[in-house]
Amino acid sequence: MITIAGLGISGSYLLKRLKNSGFDVRGYDPKPPGYYLPCGYAVNIHELAPLLEEVNLSARDYLLSEAESITIGTESGGEYVFQSRGLCTIEKNRLENDMVAETRFTREIAPAKGDIIVDATGVSRYYLGKTPEDFTMYARELVTTESGHDDFYFRYFPDGKGYYWEFPLGDRYHIGVGTSDFEYLDKYLANRPRERITGRKIRLKPLMGSAVRGNIVGIGEAVGTVSPITGEGIIPSLKSAEILYQCLNRNEDREEAFRAYMKAMEKTFSRYMKLYSLLMNFRSGRKGLGNVRYLPAAVEDIRSFGIDFRMTKVISEFL
Ligand SMILES: Cc1cc2nc3c(=O)[nH]c(=O)nc-3n(C[C@H](O)[C@H](O)[C@H](O)COP(=O)(O)OP(=O)(O)OC[C@H]3O[C@@H](n4cnc5c(N)ncnc54)[C@H](O)[C@@H]3O)c2cc1C
Repeated sequence: MITIAGLGISGSYLLKRLKNSGFDVRGYDPKPPGYYLPCGYAVNIHELAPLLEEVNLSARDYLLSEAESITIGTESGGEYVFQSRGLCTIEKNRLENDMVAETRFTREIAPAKGDIIVDATGVSRYYLGKTPEDFTMYARELVTTESGHDDFYFRYFPDGKGYYWEFPLGDRYHIGVGTSDFEYLDKYLANRPRERITGRKIRLKPLMGSAVRGNIVGIGEAVGTVSPITGEGIIPSLKSAEILYQCLNRNEDREEAFRAYMKAMEKTFSRYMKLYSLLMNFRSGRKGLGNVRYLPAAVEDIRSFGIDFRMTKVISEFL
């Protein structure tokens, strides 16, 4: 029996994937129907589509807005415009609901029992537990009908202190700030008209090395599948769920499945270790040529998020 604790994007996907393959699996999440967890809803449609095909869903059915161009700005006034490589927003909550439909799940905190307990509880790591080397920032987000830009917009704060975003949602916008410096929350979000305001911490530390404890295995943000430089967590969390599914499907022995999972996760998310080092260098003032080795990983990461990022446009900001 597999228990999935947490039915956010990663847990919902894994529940449906395992159920469709005949596994004995049950999901748990105490959040009531319609409960709104903060998230910008931005994904790369080209990355989402093949994953959703695995659970017989079509990514285009969940589209809210597709980017034409994306502007990345800085606090010092720099503005750089890039073409889209598939960046869009999706109806994430409806997608999660559709994935858990026709599965066995209960609206309560998961009991810590089962041959395998999958910790998909996001930033809380409820079952895997806290780790001393963790790193999170605080993120606050508004749903609003008013935005400074019509298309997707990011404004990065200096010294790796996070960024401000505006993401179109069809007839609304998500605007938000993820930061380690609370001054930016007021600077960008105070007194802005809004229909809803939410906030939570976001994990920026890759924790793939501590993804397993006994019969507990973590997926999604619980194990740090969030880009340290963009905060992108939806596709990486889905990918981690797919990796665990593959490992459970191929290995009847739990220990072997977990070993295979750890190995695949370290390989798939090795880029995040580099990007975390880059973030920490910026935060501790270590800028300059030493960071050049991380730039290919940064470019690859931003492109896979759906932005046709060109380093030549912004190289001076990096150095
Ligand atoms: C403000 C904000 C904006 C973001 N914007 C984007 C974006 O635009 N694009 C992007 O790709 N990523 C974004 N992210 C990151 C992304 O939302 C997350 O990384 C991703 O959704 C994590 O998915 P998950 O399934 O791992 O966890 P979550 O979605 O956090 O789900 C965890 C679930 O576990 C449940 N839970 C907790 N404890 C228990 C328990 N004991 N038993 C049972 N259930 C439990 C919770 O109720 C919750 O439903 C954003 C994050 C924040 C905070």
